[in-house]
Amino acid sequence: MQRRSFLKKAGLGLAAGAVAAPAIVRAQPVIQWRLASSFPKNLDTLYGAAEILSRRVAEGSDGKFQIRVFAAGEIVPGLQVLDAVQNGTVQCGHTAPYYYIGKDPAFAFATAMPFGLNARQQNAWMYYGGGLEAMAALFKDYGCVQFPTGNTGVQMGGWYRREIKTLADLKGLKMRVAGLAGQVLAKLGVVGQQIAGGEIYQALERGTIDAAEWVGPYDDEKLGLNKVAKYYYYPGWWEGGPQLSTIVNLKEWDALPKQYKSIFESACAEANVHMLASYDAKNPEALKRLVGGGAQLRQFSKPIMEAAQKAAFEIFDEAAAKSPHFKRIYAQWLKFRSDQFLWFRVAEMSYDNFTFTSAARPAAKK
Ligand code: CA
Repeated sequence: MQRRSFLKKAGLGLAAGAVAAPAIVRAQPVIQWRLASSFPKNLDTLYGAAEILSRRVAEGSDGKFQIRVFAAGEIVPGLQVLDAVQNGTVQCGHTAPYYYIGKDPAFAFATAMPFGLNARQQNAWMYYGGGLEAMAALFKDYGCVQFPTGNTGVQMGGWYRREIKTLADLKGLKMRVAGLAGQVLAKLGVVGQQIAGGEIYQALERGTIDAAEWVGPYDDEKLGLNKVAKYYYYPGWWEGGPQLSTIVNLKEWDALPKQYKSIFESACAEANVHMLASYDAKNPEALKRLVGGGAQLRQFSKPIMEAAQKAAFEIFDEAAAKSPHFKRIYAQWLKFRSDQFLWFRVAEMSYDNFTFTSAARPAAKK
């Protein structure tokens, strides 16, 4: 009886507080943002991350915080999203930061470094390994703040019109490739070109390039790369766990109400999980269709992988000599990478090696 009485009083107290609340808590403002994506709409896993973000933010704010998503080319070309966010053309963008290594090579750390981290390790670095803090100073120089928003998992090594058996086969090869890999491959004689996703098929079909890498089976099939090149190489050693990011204009971010910031960050984290899950679920069927349709799977040879790795670390040293941001982040990242590889060599690698290569299940009893 006594307890019930207390609850009743507390309930009344709460009701009185609720009545007084409107005078204290101001209504959240209506905010409308535009988001420029680096990706075309038909690549639903990549483009879809921005749609998840937009939907969640609207739902979480009861429709008051709206983010309208624009595909690559609708406001700005796919490779100019950072500029558009920096100069305020749009409030935010969804992109692969390594598209901007021409401005500073350190942007590569936010997406993928050749022979770098896998998807899980990239998340570990960003969220708990000092990655977000390390990247923040770089993005701040460009008037932006960054939020991890998606990962493709380890990528394929691309489509080639002829076989790449030896290092000599790479000499003079004109290839679409993104990030620092272009510079690494240049050391091996490849002529790298950065081309936005929606334009790769045409370049390969017209013979402007001899080879192209994009992501993996699900996306590559959508782009139709299998129709213009036959040999499908793996692994994409330049992208062990490439991460996409939402970048937001710093002034816009600072002006955002606290509640909207919280919703926005949660939505980015959700989209980060969903993209990888989506790729992992969709890639196997796509790979079966591609191989069924005549794609020839090939693994990069060990000499090619070793030469590429050696060239990659030379590129990293050169970048560190040129960019203070790269030098600073590289030292921190390299130590994290080393510890991650040490740990993953123990349980992860032995589990993967045994289970992925053994029979899928014991033969059925007769
Ligand atoms: Ca790629």
